[in-house]
Amino acid sequence: MWSMILKERAVPLELRILKLLDARTELEEKEKKYLHNKAKGYEGEKMFDLFTGKLSLPSYLLYDLLLESNNSTFQIDTLMITQDPLFLFEVKNYEGDFYYEDRRFFSLTTKKEIQNPLLQLERCESLLRSLLQSLGYRMMIESYVIFINSKFHLYQSPLNQPIIYPNQLPDFMSRLNRRSSTVNGRHKGLAEKLISLHQTESPYDKYSKYTIDRIKKGLICAVCHAFEVFCFGRHLQCGVCGYQEGIDSAVLRCVREIQLLYPNEKITTNLVFEWCGGIITKQPIGRVLKQNFCAQGVKNHTYYV
Ligand SMILES: [Zn+2]
Repeated sequence: MWSMILKERAVPLELRILKLLDARTELEEKEKKYLHNKAKGYEGEKMFDLFTGKLSLPSYLLYDLLLESNNSTFQIDTLMITQDPLFLFEVKNYEGDFYYEDRRFFSLTTKKEIQNPLLQLERCESLLRSLLQSLGYRMMIESYVIFINSKFHLYQSPLNQPIIYPNQLPDFMSRLNRRSSTVNGRHKGLAEKLISLHQTESPYDKYSKYTIDRIKKGLICAVCHAFEVFCFGRHLQCGVCGYQEGIDSAVLRCVREIQLLYPNEKITTNLVFEWCGGIITKQPIGRVLKQNFCAQGVKNHTYYV
């Protein structure tokens, strides 16, 4: 037996939206910063997955859960269900020098206070505990803040706090592997219950000001997001990084972009034509839509689902 991933980590919807908006519009400064932090956080979580995914301790792994308890929403980066306890991990990809003072975290360079991950962890654990109780599970919870970035340093680091620093991580993982655990149907049942309670985020309200008419049209490169994409017959090529793409794939990518940013828009040949800035002509767009989607409506009002 080994650790088994029951819920994979997907690129957060908000991160996908922000990346696309960043390419097609001018984001506000605070949104750019948020995008940067969000991308960095996700990167850190994926790095930690490489450790947990390799554990030989029998356990169920749930990556990235959004749950509700006592009318509060809370997010869990990584939950590992072993026979006992339940491991709760809050992953931080902070980079650079920080210091700890009066139970608070500060950046050494800017002297600005940053969010206290220990408080975040405490909140998460207490909400999880009450959720488990309401589901009829009484299990111990062991929680840790994982600082994953090897360039992170915390001066005046507090003793006796559930923090794992990057250089401690390999040892911490080996210690986990030496524990004993037998998971059974009841543990799997809990994992499945939590997955069924997982909520999907809906960040659309936050970015509703970026309406479809405000956004820059044109075909962006699938790799570097540059707008310099040129069409040669059935192929397209990026003038910046040289990436080549078939016309069908580019049309489908446009459709996915529209569906991601504007899920309520009806997909029509004209809309995709406008979206790609006229770089692909309507004839191949219509053909690809017909081949890959189901046509609804009649004649000039055909849309695809
Ligand atoms: Zn490119």
